[in-house]
Amino acid sequence: MKKYFLIMKRNIALFVLLTTFSQMVSAQSGRIPDKINDIVHTRLAVSFDYQRCYVYGKEWITLKPHNYLTDSLTLDAKGMDINEVAMQNGNQKTSLKFSYDSLKLRVHLNRTYKTTENYTVFINYTAKPKQRKGIKKNERGIYFINPQGKEKDKPTQIWTEGEPESSSGWFPTIDRPDEKATSEISMTVPAKYVTLSNGRLASQKNNHDRTRTDTWKMDQPNAPYLFMMAVGNFRIYHDHWRGKPVDYYLDPKYAPYAKQIFGETPEAMEFFSKTLGVDFPWNKEAQIAVSDYVSGAMENTTATVFGNPYQASIRELADSYFSAGVEHELFHQWFGDYVTAKNWPNLSLNESFADFGEIIWLEHKYGKDAADEHIESGLQGYLGDKNNSTRPLVNYNIKEPADMFNGVTYQKGGRILNMLRNYLGNDAFYKGLHLYLTTNAFKNAEATQLRLALEQASGRDLNWFFNQWYFGAGHPVLNISYKWEETTKTELVYIEQKQQGQTFKVPLAVDVYSSGKAIRHKIWLGAQRDTLRLKSESEPDLVNVDADKILICQKTDEKSIKEFAYQYFHAPLYLDRLEALEAAGKDLKDSIAQKVILAAINDKFPGLRKKAVTLVRSSDSLFKIIAEPTLIALAQSETNNQTKAEVLHVLARYKDARNLPVFYTALKSESYTVQAAGLFGINEIDPEKAVREAHHLEQDNHGELTEGIFVLYGQKAELVDWPYIHKRFTGGTLQEKIHLLNKFAGFVIKINDSRASQEGIQALTAIGVEYKSVGAAPYILKFLDQIGEAKKKQNDIASVKAVSEATQKINDAK
Ligand SMILES: [Zn+2]
Repeated sequence: MKKYFLIMKRNIALFVLLTTFSQMVSAQSGRIPDKINDIVHTRLAVSFDYQRCYVYGKEWITLKPHNYLTDSLTLDAKGMDINEVAMQNGNQKTSLKFSYDSLKLRVHLNRTYKTTENYTVFINYTAKPKQRKGIKKNERGIYFINPQGKEKDKPTQIWTEGEPESSSGWFPTIDRPDEKATSEISMTVPAKYVTLSNGRLASQKNNHDRTRTDTWKMDQPNAPYLFMMAVGNFRIYHDHWRGKPVDYYLDPKYAPYAKQIFGETPEAMEFFSKTLGVDFPWNKEAQIAVSDYVSGAMENTTATVFGNPYQASIRELADSYFSAGVEHELFHQWFGDYVTAKNWPNLSLNESFADFGEIIWLEHKYGKDAADEHIESGLQGYLGDKNNSTRPLVNYNIKEPADMFNGVTYQKGGRILNMLRNYLGNDAFYKGLHLYLTTNAFKNAEATQLRLALEQASGRDLNWFFNQWYFGAGHPVLNISYKWEETTKTELVYIEQKQQGQTFKVPLAVDVYSSGKAIRHKIWLGAQRDTLRLKSESEPDLVNVDADKILICQKTDEKSIKEFAYQYFHAPLYLDRLEALEAAGKDLKDSIAQKVILAAINDKFPGLRKKAVTLVRSSDSLFKIIAEPTLIALAQSETNNQTKAEVLHVLARYKDARNLPVFYTALKSESYTVQAAGLFGINEIDPEKAVREAHHLEQDNHGELTEGIFVLYGQKAELVDWPYIHKRFTGGTLQEKIHLLNKFAGFVIKINDSRASQEGIQALTAIGVEYKSVGAAPYILKFLDQIGEAKKKQNDIASVKAVSEATQKINDAK
C-alpha cells in the first residue's frame, strides 16, 4: 500500500494523513491466532444494490484443516447478513448450523475433517458496508462512489480496498496475510460498466436484464487482502510487457493521458524482472485509477488501485517531480504478493521493499542524484516523527495492524535495505533476494527468511545487522570532529555515538582528500566513542566520513566552511553537495559560503538548484544583489518546473519591474506551478495587473495556480470575486479543498457581504460533517469560530447565527 501521497510534491493537510495512519482496526493484538483451517479456493458470485450500497453474495469457499482434525470453521465476515450456510458436496447442499456476531462467522461442520480432506462451504450473504457499526469509513472493504448518480461531475464506481483486514467486509474469509488461495470472482453489473479483478477475465455473459456477468479467475494463490473488484465506466488502454497484458483503467476524462500516467509500467516490469532474476510472476498487470480512494494506492495482485493523484491531465503531469508511485506498487507484486509478510509485525517484508523499489527505480530511470534526494527526503520523514526512534522494524508490540503503517516500516526499512545492498554489494544482495523470492514463492516469510537468504548468497553472517536494524530500534546520532597531527602525519577523527539505547556496529567508508586525490579507508564503528587514525602525506583538504552517504543517522559534523566548500566541489554525491550547501546556508555573509551557493544555483541536479535558490530568499540585501544575475539567468534556462517556480518566487521578492517580462513569460507556461509563480511576481510589482491576469486564468487552473488566485483575490476579498472562489472551492476534489481550506476560510472572514458569508459557512459545514470521522471537525470549527468573530465586528447578525447553527450541526454529526 502506498500511504497518501501526491504526484505533485506538496504538503498534505494533517487530517488526510490521519485517515491513512489511523486506518483499519482489527481484533488482532498480542499473540497471533492459531491456524485451524486454510483456504484453498474462493469462488464468489456477487451483484450490487446501488440504491442501498449492498453486495449480494454467494460464496463457495474450499478449505482444509491446517494440521489437527476439526469439526468447526471460523471466518471473518464484517457487517453482513448471513442468509444461509451449507456444506456443498457436488450438487448437494447440506445445511450447517452457524452463529454470527457481525465480525466472526462460526460454522459447525457436518462432521470432523482431516488435513487431507478439502471441503466446500456455501454461504449466501449480504454485505452492508455502510451500515457496519463502529467501523471507520476507510475500513469498509468495499466502497460505492456516487452510487445513485446524484453527484454531478463524479463518476459512479465500486471498488474495494482490503489491506490490512478489510476484505472480510465484502466476502467471508480468513482475513490474514498468511492465508493463500486461488479465486474465481463473478460480478453481475449493469452492462454499460467494465469490471476488473485479479487474474484473467475468463468469461463475459450478457444477461436479459441489461446486466452482464464477468468472471475473473486467479489461478495462482494469493492472500485475501489482495483480492479486489472494481466496477465503473473506465476506459482501458492496452499496453503489454513480454506478451502479457498491461492495462490502464481510467475515467474517460483522463483516458487520453493513460500512457503518460501509467506508461512506465512495462519498463519497470522489465527492470525489476531483470534486477531480481525473477520474471514478473503473474498473468497480467492492470493499473486502475479510481475516485475518492481511501489510501494512496494498493497493490492487489495483478490489479493495482490508485487514488486521485493518478487522475491527472497533461498540464498537471508537467508539475510532477521524479515520482515512483507506480513502481512502489509494482515492486509489491514480488514483495508482498508473491512472497507475503507472514503477519503484520513483519510488514517490512512488503513495505520496506516497496519503498526500496522506489529508490532503485529512481536510480535506474533518473540517476543517482534523484534516488539520493528521495532517500534523503524519506530519511527526514522518518526522523520527523519522534515515535519512530523507539519502534523496531519488526514489531510484535502493536495493538493493531494499522500501527505498522509508519515511517519505520516504510522509509527507514527502505533505507535499511539500501544499506544492506551497499554492505553486501549489488551481486550478492540481488542473488540473496532471488533466493528469498524463489524459496518462498506463493508463501509467506518473516525477516529471518530474508536474513538466511542473504547469508547464503553472500557467505556473510548477518545476525549482527538484523539484530541491530530489524529487531532493534533507533539510529546513530553522531558527533564527528577532526584534528591534524603534523608530527605523525595523522588525521584524527573522533566519532561519538550520542543516541540513547543501542550502540551501533557500523561499516563505513571514509575518504581522505589530500594533494588533489582521495584515498578510501574502510572502517567499522562499534564503540560509543571511536577514534580513527588516518595517515596522510599532508593535512587533508577534506575527510569525508560515510563517503557513500549510506548510513541512517543524524550527525553533527564539525567541518569548517572551507572543508565543506571543498566537499561541494570535489566529492561526487548529491548528499556531499547538499551537506555543503546546508552548511553554507548557515552564514550567508561568508564569501566562501556565497561561492558554494552561487555554484549550487547552477548545480547539475534540479533539486539542489532549487535548494540553493531558496537560500537566497532568506539572505540579506548584499548577497541578494550578488545573486540576482545568476537567478535571472536560471529563470530563463531552467527546465524543471518546480525549480523554475522557485526561482521566480525568489525573484518576485526583488520587486524589480525590470523582471516583469520574465513573469509574463511564466504565465504562458504549461506548468500551473510556474504560472502561479509568475502571477506572484507581477503581484509584487503591480497587484492590480496581477488580479487582471488572474481573471484570465480562472478557466484553467490547478494546484498552486488555484491557490495563487485564491491568495490574490483574498487580498481584498471583493464580492465580484466571490462567485469564482465559491464555485472553485465547492466544486474541487477533497484534496483541493484541503489545500484551499485556509484561503477559502480567510476570504469568508474578510468579505463584507452577508449572503456570500452564509454560502461560505455552508460550504465549510458540509466538509465538517462529511469528513468528521477522519478528523476534519476541529479544523472547520476553528475556522467557523474565526468567521463568527469577524461577522460580529461586521454587524452581520444573520451570519453570526449561521455560524452557531453550523457549529451545532458539526457537533451533532457522527
Ligand atoms: Zn506499499
